[in-house]
Amino acid sequence: MSTRRNKKVAESKAYRFNLICEGKRFFKTEQEAIDAADVRMLENMSVTIGIYQCATCMHWHLTSIKPDQKT
Ligand SMILES: [Zn+2]
Repeated sequence: MSTRRNKKVAESKAYRFNLICEGKRFFKTEQEAIDAADVRMLENMSVTIGIYQCATCMHWHLTSIKPDQKT
């Protein structure tokens, strides 16, 4: 909890996360991340891609969501 920012993000998207940088590919804008997530989900219908703004690098990352992982 080293950074403090105003929380004025509109809840327009169903998928928002507060995660840290994991060395993933990043996007400079939310729209770029959304577009990339859409492409990923079109390529693989079984996966849900979420986006989040990284508190470390302040860019946007994708993350895969697996609500029900088969064993
Ligand atoms: Zn990051």
